[in-house]
Amino acid sequence: MRLPEALQFEREWRGSMDELVRKATQLSLNFPIDNDVYLPESTRTVVMSYRARGILPPADRKRFTWDHLVRLLAARYLVTQGWKREDVAERFKEHSTDYLAKHLPELATSAVQAKPRIDATELQRVEMATIAVQLLAAGIVEQFGHAKRGAVLVQDDSMSQRLTQAMLLLAALFLQEGQDNPLGSVHQLLALSRSPLTSATFGLAVFDYRDFPYAGLLLLDPDRRIPTLDCAELARQSSSELDLREQLAFDALRSASEQLVGRQDEAYADLRLWITEHPVTTTAQLRDFVRETNLQAALGFLLSCYEPVGPRHLIHGQLHLCSACGVPMRRSPSVESLVACTIVQCSRFDKPVESIAHPTGPETLIARPHVLLYWVAPGLDEVALYRKAQKFGLSPRPYPDRDACDISLDGGAVGVDVKSYANPFVLAAALTANVGGLASYPTRIIAINDQALARFHGYLDIVRQRYSGPLPLRFMSVHELMKSLESPF
Ligand SMILES: [Zn+2]
Repeated sequence: MRLPEALQFEREWRGSMDELVRKATQLSLNFPIDNDVYLPESTRTVVMSYRARGILPPADRKRFTWDHLVRLLAARYLVTQGWKREDVAERFKEHSTDYLAKHLPELATSAVQAKPRIDATELQRVEMATIAVQLLAAGIVEQFGHAKRGAVLVQDDSMSQRLTQAMLLLAALFLQEGQDNPLGSVHQLLALSRSPLTSATFGLAVFDYRDFPYAGLLLLDPDRRIPTLDCAELARQSSSELDLREQLAFDALRSASEQLVGRQDEAYADLRLWITEHPVTTTAQLRDFVRETNLQAALGFLLSCYEPVGPRHLIHGQLHLCSACGVPMRRSPSVESLVACTIVQCSRFDKPVESIAHPTGPETLIARPHVLLYWVAPGLDEVALYRKAQKFGLSPRPYPDRDACDISLDGGAVGVDVKSYANPFVLAAALTANVGGLASYPTRIIAINDQALARFHGYLDIVRQRYSGPLPLRFMSVHELMKSLESPF
């Protein structure tokens, strides 16, 4: 029996990600695609990378089905035949799972390997979808601001105008694709915005088009339900009057530092480093820190960055912290009984692990959601680079001149900004508009989070190509910069 026939017996199959990997491997080893052609075995990494490329639809409540099994094996086959994964994703959109299962052996030989040309209607749709997402990001940020002031979201005139406009454009896109609009309610739209922008989640094919710049972008952090860094940046780009500084909590840090007359810059850097390295702390530890560094005037500010342990921090009543970033973990979505890190910039993000509970008491404090998302998470690379540069005697300064850049090296000869936007188009647009204080450094480095690079195919090329600001910038991965710190610049 060949694989296409064997697959017909598995139609009722359901299982976890690990079971999917096992089932796919078992089928690959026992049944040939054709004659003597057998597929290589599958791994979790393969499944995760196919999910990231949109080849596999998201799991339904952690359960994978026959759809995933067929698409995984068909993609395995095409990739072994030299297909690029994005072309596989493109190709799969044309076919039902049934078709893929039955025609597996012919998939690689048929003449559709040539990329479909994008026509004018498609380009127009991509443009419309791009604007819709920019408005949606701005609307989410605006609405989030309203909510912070206590307003309840009601779908009427009190709702953010940008959100209303985004909904109208999305409705028009559904109409153009000949579909009913499932996003009539703003609550539905916001709930969906906790999933990546793909056709599988939103039901709009245009989100998977090759030229759509925001494919896979996440607008709301699913764990903390606040705008992601990319969302905040997109909102800033499209609506400059939206004030995000307050939201990103930098203003509070600035005014706390202002009170420390004569050493504002040093206080700013000390406070920011300390918070990034202490996502979980205790009131006693916090008081010791301000006493040792003579930052008592900032105690109120520091306390405002933390909250006591609450039920949403706990798993089965216990606190589990990531061994890499120190942030509270959640239950692993892929493997029951294990836990996983929630910080996308962390090297251990989403990797299911066993963990020993962290002791907690009434004194335990956890950084508030916006502090975790906007400071701690992007700060992980900054702190690692700073500590390493320190070790190698490169006289680094963290957040010099209250944030001119993230780290300066060699007495101010080199300025480094670390970026962890998930989307290279968002980053390129942000830098083209303004490189900020980095402009004042002779050598300007943009170091990009390794996890963000690994998730977006061609990230560095895209950002280099799209950046069109007047000042030359050097783009590299955080990993590469870490290595280059070992030998002098
Ligand atoms: Zn982590």
